[in-house]
Amino acid sequence: MQESIGKPSEHALEGDAAKLKRIEAQMHRMTKIFMDGADPIVIRDLDGVILDANHETERVFGWSRDEILGKRCTHLLAPEYHHLADEVLSRLRQGESVRNIEAAVITQWGQTVPVLSTVFLLTNEHGETIGYAEIVKDITQWKEMTERLQQRNRELQHFANILAHDLGAPLRTIRGFAELIKDGCQDALSEECQQHLRFIFDSARRMDLLIEDLLKYVRIENHAVSFDDVNCDKILKQVLENLHAAISDNNAEITSDPMPTIHANGTQMIQLFQNLIDNAIKYSSAEPLREHISAKQEGDNWEFTFRDNGIGIDDKYQDKIFDVFRRLHSDEVIPGTGIGLATCKAIVERHGGRIWVESEKGKGSVFHFTIATTSPNEDSTAG
Ligand code: ADP
Repeated sequence: MQESIGKPSEHALEGDAAKLKRIEAQMHRMTKIFMDGADPIVIRDLDGVILDANHETERVFGWSRDEILGKRCTHLLAPEYHHLADEVLSRLRQGESVRNIEAAVITQWGQTVPVLSTVFLLTNEHGETIGYAEIVKDITQWKEMTERLQQRNRELQHFANILAHDLGAPLRTIRGFAELIKDGCQDALSEECQQHLRFIFDSARRMDLLIEDLLKYVRIENHAVSFDDVNCDKILKQVLENLHAAISDNNAEITSDPMPTIHANGTQMIQLFQNLIDNAIKYSSAEPLREHISAKQEGDNWEFTFRDNGIGIDDKYQDKIFDVFRRLHSDEVIPGTGIGLATCKAIVERHGGRIWVESEKGKGSVFHFTIATTSPNEDSTAG
């Protein structure tokens, strides 16, 4: 059958109606997602004027939609963030979406609510920007938790300093008097007493190490550190030099692939590499140590791998060894303080990464850690 020009067939009309229905249903769904979204969402025009806001915006900030529609977003922002609104708008005008900007909103009842804001461009069917959508996350609880954590860290740092000072003083006295006994009357001492004196010196030395390592651990979390471009080839070279004597005494062979340059704190990277290599030397088997170090980029992270042929670690201890004071050997068998891997974990976490081990007892261990390509914790300076 031939269709007359200009007069759509019934079939075509049916098709349009169905299409319209589908678009309506889709719009209904999208509006519902927008209105009932779990976070406040605000739609703005090209000048930053608010065109729409969802229920959560009303609930969290107390302003009704009518009160904020037609207002600029500075109407909601705490005054100290007004300059940020202009900066964000000019970035948006250059076609750039803006993610996770920290700011604060003044609620209808006068409270300041810290928020994390993400603004992205809304475009029409031709790809032209017609406005912006802003998702505003209330981060009050996260901020409170962070502050509590920083307070706890400050207390811990204070406690560790006092501990180190207060334990250090009697320790010096014990060592001093033991020295006097040794120098003054060693000849008069029986073999048994001389043995007791050696125990005192050994214990004092161990206590010194414990205090020193504990302080190193606490400082990772609490000291302000700067993050720079760090060439890991240079870090490794430095660490191998530092451990030169232990490496040659043990006939160890440590090899590596080319290492990346990462955004990190150089001193902490040296500590991290050194603790892992030092452990590989310490926990080597009857065979001389063979350790290989490599790195690869995985998404937003660098993943480093330290593979050794040492004594290995039993399955059931593999996640526990990163806890403070967790050791699998007595000090007499293999000396140590049980703080090295906890320090590695603290360093890695401060760089936005994680650390884990894969190992088979008797066959060797593979330590992995990741470092975020951009470190999120570089500004956390609780000290
Ligand atoms: P420490 O070496 O002072 O005991 P660490 O925190 O550095 O403390 O290590 C915790 C435990 O993990 C060690 O006591 C050891 O049993 C185990 N360990 C660490 N590195 C290795 C390794 N490369 N191979 C086998 N075991 C290891």
